[in-house]
Amino acid sequence: MIDFQNVIEDIYSDLKHTTNKGVVASYIPELAKQSNASFGIYLKPIDGNNCHVGDWDTPFSIQSISKVLALSKAIAFEDNKIWQRLDVEPSGNPFNHLTLLELENGIPRNPLINAGALVVADILVTHLKNPKQDFLEYVRNITNDQTINYNLEVATSEQQTGFKNYAAANLLKSYNNLNNAVDIVLDFYFHQCALEMNCEQLANAFYLFSNKGKCVNNKQHLTLSQVKRINAIMLTCGFYDEAGEFAFEVGLPGKSGVGGGIVALLPNNFVIVTWAPGLNPKGNSLIGMQALEQFTTKTNRSIF
Ligand code: GLN
Repeated sequence: MIDFQNVIEDIYSDLKHTTNKGVVASYIPELAKQSNASFGIYLKPIDGNNCHVGDWDTPFSIQSISKVLALSKAIAFEDNKIWQRLDVEPSGNPFNHLTLLELENGIPRNPLINAGALVVADILVTHLKNPKQDFLEYVRNITNDQTINYNLEVATSEQQTGFKNYAAANLLKSYNNLNNAVDIVLDFYFHQCALEMNCEQLANAFYLFSNKGKCVNNKQHLTLSQVKRINAIMLTCGFYDEAGEFAFEVGLPGKSGVGGGIVALLPNNFVIVTWAPGLNPKGNSLIGMQALEQFTTKTNRSIF
């Protein structure tokens, strides 16, 4: 039997004092207030005890990690239809790149780059009666935690500076791949990205992707086929132009965000969350990737 608490404590003490911790995102001014000294890990096994170390209970901005939660809600509404407006190929490009969108006639490469997430946001705005409130309720329900909320300062901060996202949304609109007004879709998207959670809450939110579509409340939200697809997209597209590197080093489906969080999971086994706000040049948490590489290497737990 592996002592998982011991493993994550070893990883924590090994990485906590490394000198190169990466650079905190500053293009969303509110995120620049974070310290790259923060570091936490939370492991939630399907069977067995939860383990945690460091700053696992400090809330942070989940940013792009929210794209997976939004996709899981949109898939429940439209299932196969959604793939007429979105592709499922890795982009090999940064998360906010626009070139491929124009080359490929307004069909985003996948739902986890920004352009794809804006199409998903558009689907949610179409189907939800009170989009921001209803999406928040969904996240609270699958996590079984009514305290989760949007950080409105972060949402406003991105609203004032997210010019590339305005560009992407306008481009999508010009290709008739947004049904709602650009400003309404962006307002929803900026709030979705500004969801704030700690490592434990994120592990609970992503539990359904490792537990055959059933959330922590044992309620079925997704079919097995939907879970397969979402996990496949995380594996191939969850880390932008570093998805290959993450699969190579870590070997798990996962998703990163510029707030410094990473969620990764082994289907039917566990969800693991790391938070370390210093990013590498590709926009993924530097220490978080190293911690997850050590975790799957030390425990021999990966999809491969
Ligand atoms: N809200 C951020 C953006 O749209 C999310 C980016 C990320 O976490 N990679 O730029």
